[in-house]
Amino acid sequence: MLGLMQEWPLLCHRIIDHAATYHGERPVVTRSVEGPIFTTNYAAIRARALKLAKRLDKDGVKLGDRVATLAWNTWRHLETWYGILGIGAVYHTVNPRLFPEQLIWIINHAEDRVMMTDLTFVPLLEKLADRLPKIERYIVLTDAAHMPKTSLKNAVAYEEWIGEVDGDFAWKSFDENTAAGMCYTSGTTGNPKGVLYSHRSNVLHAFMAALPDSKNLSVRDVCMPVVPMFHANGWSLAFSTPMVGASLVLPGAKMDGASIYELLDAYKVTFTAAVPTVWLMLLQELEKTGAKLPHLKRVVIGGSAAPRAMTQKFEQTYGVEVVHAWGMTEMSPLGSLCTMKPEYAQLTGEARLDIQQKQGHPPFGVEMKITDDADKKLPWDGKTFGRLKVRGPAVARCYFKAENEKILDAEGFFDTGDVSTIDPYGYMQITDRAKDVIKSGGEWISSIDIENLAIGHPKVAEAAVIGIKHPKWDERPLLVVVMKKDQTATKEDILAFMQGKIAKWWMPDDVAFVDEIPHTATGKILKIALRERFKNYVLPTAQAAE
Ligand code: AMP
Repeated sequence: MLGLMQEWPLLCHRIIDHAATYHGERPVVTRSVEGPIFTTNYAAIRARALKLAKRLDKDGVKLGDRVATLAWNTWRHLETWYGILGIGAVYHTVNPRLFPEQLIWIINHAEDRVMMTDLTFVPLLEKLADRLPKIERYIVLTDAAHMPKTSLKNAVAYEEWIGEVDGDFAWKSFDENTAAGMCYTSGTTGNPKGVLYSHRSNVLHAFMAALPDSKNLSVRDVCMPVVPMFHANGWSLAFSTPMVGASLVLPGAKMDGASIYELLDAYKVTFTAAVPTVWLMLLQELEKTGAKLPHLKRVVIGGSAAPRAMTQKFEQTYGVEVVHAWGMTEMSPLGSLCTMKPEYAQLTGEARLDIQQKQGHPPFGVEMKITDDADKKLPWDGKTFGRLKVRGPAVARCYFKAENEKILDAEGFFDTGDVSTIDPYGYMQITDRAKDVIKSGGEWISSIDIENLAIGHPKVAEAAVIGIKHPKWDERPLLVVVMKKDQTATKEDILAFMQGKIAKWWMPDDVAFVDEIPHTATGKILKIALRERFKNYVLPTAQAAE
């Protein structure tokens, strides 16, 4: 027997309908790519998204067609998402920080028909355009006054283009499992893989993301997503914020400490989210100027492990609650968030920071397990590490154009490629990427734990740990560090700082000082490049063992 409730497909554009109806006047503030601050609201965004939908429809863009965006977080970018979604086309966020060859590969693989680009990326696209045969036209997200002269095919200024139609248009209706958005994972090896979200998965994920023990978003918040919309589905903020009717502040192209601080302060932002690199720049700025953060209540830190010292600074110096979050493109992207359960709520100081080093517990809609290499489930004791696997309605079941390649195990779980522990209260802690874990004498050493510890050294700016071949132990850790500007330290200084804070056999066998650590396009340490650089490195302990 079926239930007798209404059919109401979970379609993403219903979110902007709701925001426009009940929170229509709520401000959406952007630092525009052209420069000035621009303020609009949800009602206007919906009205213009309808125009965009009508315009795309007029151009023959149909259900399932991919429309690429190469753009910062702005009100126009938000409009493009909803306009594209409203006709059943698929927004494809392209990460401008990828290498040109990867960009070409991704855009061609996705078979994007239209490219919507910010002014910033016009010169880049002009260089690539010859190799993007499927793109029929380029829409530059600006007005006629700022439209540059360009060789891009059928290029037009966004404002002129949508100005050619009125907004008299009705969203299309279709099955909630229809494809909605696409984001390629920036793998460190092989070709990128396309993750294809559905309307249903995005809507369910937005509910999950807004929950009190997720981002705890409400209509009373002023939310600033610093994480770009082209990173892992923009961490759902383009959906979960209008869903609750919170006000939005969008930082556009400027994410340096001073620019971010200016927006936090001027618009009394209460909630914000980004990767650690962004927060490092903000904290440095605050230290320099002595400014405070009186309005900010919560900051989500994710994408890479949140360093302990960063969490401590935010909470103890600035009174801002840190929510450490973990996720991945394949998970829409939220997997877990570290909020305090009653068992931990009373903790303060170092004990609280210990818990906040963990990536936290999953919201309803994400199931987790840890297994060994033979797929046997491992205990949740907070110590045993294993491969982290996940299942849920907003987790990928296969990649785009690779529907026949199985990526789920027999129970339908997706292998995240991360290695983690889970404690008895269900808090997950990442200890490594499966391919980065250091295998020493048959035991695993977590490179992330050592890195976090090394970053705590007051003179260290960045640290990475890789496994180096060892004749006796198979692999041993090498700590690679970048010192802060004008600071020096010896190997002995660094090791003495770490001594006693981790197991003896986890201590790095050597320390290498470098000027720079390579990063991927999403700001993660590119271990593969480091391993290549140090492939012939001989550890002092290796010589001794031979
Ligand atoms: P992406 O799909 O580019 O967002 O990358 C996802 C990967 O980033 C995860 O599988 C993790 O390896 C890493 N990651 C994300 N958040 C965290 C975190 N809080 N701590 C450690 N690693 C993280």
